[in-house]
Amino acid sequence: MTEHDEVDHLRAAHEAVLRRMAAAADRVGRDSASVTLVAITKTVAAERMRLAGEAGMRTFGENRVQEALAKQPALTSTDVSWHLVGPLQSNKVRKAIDAFDVIETVDSVGLARRIDGLLGGVETAPDESPTPFPILLQVNIDADPAKAGLSPDDVETALREIAMLRHLRVDGLMTVGRLVEAPEGARLTFRALRELSVALRAKGLALGPELSMGMTDDFEVAIEEGATIVRVGRALFGERPHHHGDGAIDHVH
Ligand SMILES: *Cc1c(COP(=O)(O)O)cnc(C)c1O
Repeated sequence: MTEHDEVDHLRAAHEAVLRRMAAAADRVGRDSASVTLVAITKTVAAERMRLAGEAGMRTFGENRVQEALAKQPALTSTDVSWHLVGPLQSNKVRKAIDAFDVIETVDSVGLARRIDGLLGGVETAPDESPTPFPILLQVNIDADPAKAGLSPDDVETALREIAMLRHLRVDGLMTVGRLVEAPEGARLTFRALRELSVALRAKGLALGPELSMGMTDDFEVAIEEGATIVRVGRALFGERPHHHGDGAIDHVH
């Protein structure tokens, strides 16, 4: 395939996903402009990501800090933003702050403190109050032992503690649904995340309205249940190789 064909191909895939997002939003009377598509580019080569940028994709999600850093030089456009959607080890926090605009996977107060502490060391002009760094709290709604995330019962306490960290801003909640046979199987997980968010916000806790939920197999159900961020990989870029990076096995469903 020539570069030009590949851009056309990626543009068509992007537009198809956007159309499906708009239809899902429509079904429940939501404005599709209120939902952000994060193109998940783990295992997608930097060069192909550059073409994805030409095809109109602007927000990218990676699950590894190192992989994002390696690919970022290929996308120099200033209106591109990057979300971390994979687990963050404490020794990678400094690099993650540099590489990402949003960290979606904060799953402990300890990790939040570590991010805040490193941000505290970032220079700001003396007359400027620092803009807080946006994070989402990852919640393990289904108590799936294979998944990261705070237990729903622990989110309130975590929010109260994180509210004291002045360099962070919790924009919302994120979840990775468990593997289900059909998209409908994810609906109750997504609904539970939204209800948790509504309940916590009603208590006046410092929590923004973002809900990051839904992937290739179930993003339409997620939008029907209130997702403001959907994370879509395969519907844009095709199937991934089964093995990824340092030997971790990718979830192929
Ligand atoms: C890989 C991944 C996605 C995208 O999954 P697809 O099924 O390819 O859409 C979304 N979120 C997270 C956290 C991921 O790791």
